[in-house]
Amino acid sequence: MSDYIVRGMAADNQVRFFACCSTETVEKARITHNTSPVVTNALGRLLTGGVLMGAMCKNDSDTLTIRVECQGPLHGMLVTADSKGNVKGYVSETDVMLPAKDVAKAIDLGVMSVIKDIGMKEPYVGQTHLVSSEIAEDLTYYFVTSEQIPSSVALGVLLDDNAAIRVAGGFIIQLMPFAKDEIITFLEERLKDFSFTSMLESGMSVENIIETIFEGYDVAITDTLPCSYMCDCSKERVEKAVISLGRKEIADMIDEGKPVEVVCDFCRTKYTFSPDELLKLLTTR
Ligand SMILES: [Zn+2]
Repeated sequence: MSDYIVRGMAADNQVRFFACCSTETVEKARITHNTSPVVTNALGRLLTGGVLMGAMCKNDSDTLTIRVECQGPLHGMLVTADSKGNVKGYVSETDVMLPAKDVAKAIDLGVMSVIKDIGMKEPYVGQTHLVSSEIAEDLTYYFVTSEQIPSSVALGVLLDDNAAIRVAGGFIIQLMPFAKDEIITFLEERLKDFSFTSMLESGMSVENIIETIFEGYDVAITDTLPCSYMCDCSKERVEKAVISLGRKEIADMIDEGKPVEVVCDFCRTKYTFSPDELLKLLTTR
């Protein structure tokens, strides 16, 4: 089953939800970056949160980036998603050697920034400190403090014996301003020991899990959209990054007389620039 996101409303429109299965998305990230289990877990959670928050964007061209800068051995990670289910990301340290569940130890204290590029001159940036470094609670805290929206966020990655992804997924459930106490109390109780990923593992679909969460209430699924790990880099885009290094830097590379290799942070694709190509970059500007 391929990955997908489900969007909708529940309980008489008092609640909106975004939920996804991100197993293949996270597995692609793991293979691309060759991450150790705890890093796979951490990046997988952030990718899942990112793809869900991307799906919350209103316009087709909107993009959303979540950056974590931290004191733990993982150092930092970054995830970028669009509104169409595409997500990509990278970590600073790919081989942190801790048990897979020790995400909070790998991250430790730090800051989370949510950057929304919605076509304005300046992107919107919301910044919060990490409260648990488990990612889901940190995003919950972000929604409450930066966007003033009471939310429940669950993000999970389960690994198999070979450290590959067994299942990954999660949800963001948000209360609308007019939500009544009854549904608030119901959800608090309901989500206390709720494990989205163990339900995915048991073979339930994302839709079924959402219906299970809201048992006894109406659920209206607005739409579903496929999601995947996708990088949109190209030699032209990488050229821009090379140009931004500045004339002196490029001139130095040309002087060395050897081709220069540039690797995309997100998908590890290698782009090679010969001295002639570098010279062209200098002279066509
Ligand atoms: Zn790329």
